[in-house]
Amino acid sequence: MQTSHELLAKLVGFPTVSRDSNLELIDYIKTHLSALGAECHILPNAEGTKANLFATLGPQGDGGVVLSGHTDVVPIDGQKWDTPPFTLTERDQRFYGRGTADMKGFIACALRIATQAAERELQSPLYFAFSYDEEVGCLGVRPMLDFVSETGLRPALCIVGEPTSLEVGLGHKGKTDFRVVCTGREAHSSFAPGKVSALHLACDFVAAIRAIQDEINAKGAYDEEYDVPRTTLHVGVFHAGTALNIVPGKAEMEMEFRNLHSDSSEDLIQRVQEEAAKITAEAQKQDSETGIEVTVEVTNPALDTPADSFATEFVKSLTGGNSTCKVAYGTEAGLFAERLNLPTVLCGPGSITQAHQPNEWVALDQLAHCDAMLENLLVRLEAGI
Ligand SMILES: [Zn+2]
Repeated sequence: MQTSHELLAKLVGFPTVSRDSNLELIDYIKTHLSALGAECHILPNAEGTKANLFATLGPQGDGGVVLSGHTDVVPIDGQKWDTPPFTLTERDQRFYGRGTADMKGFIACALRIATQAAERELQSPLYFAFSYDEEVGCLGVRPMLDFVSETGLRPALCIVGEPTSLEVGLGHKGKTDFRVVCTGREAHSSFAPGKVSALHLACDFVAAIRAIQDEINAKGAYDEEYDVPRTTLHVGVFHAGTALNIVPGKAEMEMEFRNLHSDSSEDLIQRVQEEAAKITAEAQKQDSETGIEVTVEVTNPALDTPADSFATEFVKSLTGGNSTCKVAYGTEAGLFAERLNLPTVLCGPGSITQAHQPNEWVALDQLAHCDAMLENLLVRLEAGI
């Protein structure tokens, strides 16, 4: 039987940066799982360049556990690595390579346990859900969730193996990305007061966003389990103006909010749009063709699994640990929970502090601990869950 070390070496060898294809890796996983008798479904993207894989081992029927992970990794562009990023390198009780922590280490452990599961009498199914394009906004997993939803499967719970150092992760914030386009009236700057400046509209919009943040900070929801305990708003990109002597005709921004589960993303989206509408109404008193257009690019729900839920207690019993956490980063877990109404927790080897970095690594003992956790899972699946 292949060890998780050997499987991880193979997985890291596929350079599945989000912008590139993951098909070779998916094909490798499919070959591995099919040989064990798993029923595999490949769900390609529209262009046929990437794919999700959903696989089932064991009996048909309700219950069972989903092991989920994304197969894409972030780029290495501009990073200085001491080892070849797409070759697994063992050094000082660590495995180095892109994706070792985020999150091919977990996928390697999942493939290892699949080999064991195939030899056992499972009473409940073991599912594998591997996605693409997670690192670019959790885009790829959506058709796989639609697929699972259509099959009518009712698993008992889902473990998303993001790197939590094998703590049981109960929450992450939601995230919504916007594109904001401000339209003014281009003119010689000597006419400035009489013409609507797109840049000035953009500044008014940024001020409005900051005022929403102030309001949230003063009286919004608060969750002390997060390092940043409130919903946050942020403008990250701002382009405007071409020359000092021209009133800017166009300004473009990108902004996001990251919301606590208790702050509705629908309400926040509406609030952002209302602020843009107010500024637009004011600008159009002067020039009816000016204003601000706000487009939601992508919205992902927050995760908030109760600490006393069955899924939480179950996964704690697998790891043998008692601590839970909420993570600062976004994951697909919120989508699994929301779209499939499926109790979902985060739990995987390695730490997020190593993810996305040059010289990304996962500790050997983290992989061993994850193997042990999944062996405990097999025992539970033999008994039925
Ligand atoms: Zn990840």
